[in-house]
Amino acid sequence: MSSPLQYITDPLLSEKEVELAVLREDFIHPTIPGNKWRKLKYNLQAAQEQQCETLVTFGGAFSNHIAAVAAAGQEYGFATMGYIRGEETLPLNPTLQYAVSCGMQLRYLSRSDYRLRHVSSFQAEILKTAPKPYLLPEGGTNLLAVKGCAEIVTELNQPWDVLCVAAGTGGTLAGVIAGAAGRGKVLGFPALKGGDFLKAEVEQLLQAYTGQTFTNWELQTDYHFGGYAKHTPELLHFIQNFHARHGILLDPVYTGKMLYGNFDLIRKGYFPRGTRIIAVHTGGQQGWRGYKERYGLEWPEV
Ligand SMILES: *Cc1c(COP(=O)(O)O)cnc(C)c1O
Repeated sequence: MSSPLQYITDPLLSEKEVELAVLREDFIHPTIPGNKWRKLKYNLQAAQEQQCETLVTFGGAFSNHIAAVAAAGQEYGFATMGYIRGEETLPLNPTLQYAVSCGMQLRYLSRSDYRLRHVSSFQAEILKTAPKPYLLPEGGTNLLAVKGCAEIVTELNQPWDVLCVAAGTGGTLAGVIAGAAGRGKVLGFPALKGGDFLKAEVEQLLQAYTGQTFTNWELQTDYHFGGYAKHTPELLHFIQNFHARHGILLDPVYTGKMLYGNFDLIRKGYFPRGTRIIAVHTGGQQGWRGYKERYGLEWPEV
């Protein structure tokens, strides 16, 4: 079943004669929001089939992926172990507190060790520390994650011309492109500075998953707001305003930037008249907890 689509009413949209709807993937699962559920779904099945007992993964201290894996372990009966980049800071930040409350065991990796997270000999050492481990890469991006994210599109019944999605590792974007299967156009909005590197990563994932290359997608790399987990007053103002007008809470790390970028492109006349845009709300609202703590910002009222 498709997630609900919420159509946005805004004078800018009428002026430019484009249609914008937000796909509320953030509602998809009670404890595992948005794309993190899509990415975990088939991995959890595989872990069950392989009779694994412990989900082992990597992430930054504020990672939505860490929070999601912890919640998934608790709900689906796996132990969880999270390897966190950098040193332990006490008290734990809200994301890690939540992970621990779900039963996740935390281990810390120095920044230099963390760089080895994709190296298979390093992974093999890490896996020795957990009983019957199932390894989820950083951000949960692998081919089963791409398979899950393709369903964001294949479950969609409403017509569309352009799909917009935020990108971190690019796994979700690859899935959405695969699901679109050459139809329409897909725009990816990297949350990281220098997001052009994602092009090769996404192409590689698509090649491995579909055996095809697609040309109906592109990256919009100008909307990172200084880089991953960085923001500007302008971005926060946009998020507050969007919430007040449309009742949709975006997150500050991914979806806020993506929708800001979307509106900017609409303003600049990027989309031809009559374009039907769907922006995928991939969730991530747990990120506000850490933002509030780090920057003294108020948690927006939902
Ligand atoms: C993790 C995350 C993303 C990025 O997903 P990738 O597959 O790593 O590109 C986008 N939006 C939200 C809300 C996320 O939590």
